[in-house]
Amino acid sequence: MKRVKYVIANWKMNGNLASLSLVRHINNHLRKNEVKSPKVIICPPFTLLGTFAAVKSMNLTFGAQNIHKLDHGAYTGEISSSMVKDVKAKYVIIGHSERRSYQNEDVNELREKILIALNQKLKVIFCIGETHDQIKKRKSILQNQLKSLPKNFSHKNIIVAYEPVWAIGTGLTPTISEIDKIHSNIRNMLTKYVGKNSDKISILYGGSVNSKNASEILYLKNVDGALVGGASLNAREFCKIIDS
Ligand code: PEP
Repeated sequence: MKRVKYVIANWKMNGNLASLSLVRHINNHLRKNEVKSPKVIICPPFTLLGTFAAVKSMNLTFGAQNIHKLDHGAYTGEISSSMVKDVKAKYVIIGHSERRSYQNEDVNELREKILIALNQKLKVIFCIGETHDQIKKRKSILQNQLKSLPKNFSHKNIIVAYEPVWAIGTGLTPTISEIDKIHSNIRNMLTKYVGKNSDKISILYGGSVNSKNASEILYLKNVDGALVGGASLNAREFCKIIDS
């Protein structure tokens, strides 16, 4: 089964207007090398999203790192999916472990966010992953997190990113064979949960991906790309990951 490959940058709370040079560097790299696959998506902070997405002739696509579960209203400081759509962003990350832990986002709230994003025709990058303490019960943790997904959605609109929480920003990763096995388990869970077409859903790996470990991870049959945090803030490093 041929699935769409992605390399996605999560800039978290980093970047400013000067970071447009980083975006241009990555864009020039894609153009010069005529990169058709993977699809490269950058998720900067909200303050930069509209500016970046408005730059003409980009081979890149842009996404938000979060949205509110409602469309509008008296929610000071929040951003809705229609606002993200309005500035021509195409994707949104939902369920990142930092939001699950610092903002207490749970299965139900995440389901609402996914639904409103899909409603606005945003594509969802849905993150799942266990903490270090949960490694032994990883399967049930991931199974439960997947319950945020609606039962019937087009496989084209959801990307799943497996990100072990203990691997994020730590320099640690599961072994290559563990990643392969966990991704295959996630595929089986998706097949049970959403059935038809689940084999077309791209499953990315995230957690301390860098230019040194990327090719080993990305060559795995069950891995359809990477969600990259820290290493995506360095244009040359990020381009090496894309080339992997
Ligand atoms: C992330 O937070 O989504 C992530 C993958 O971070 P890092 O690559 O820095 O581990």
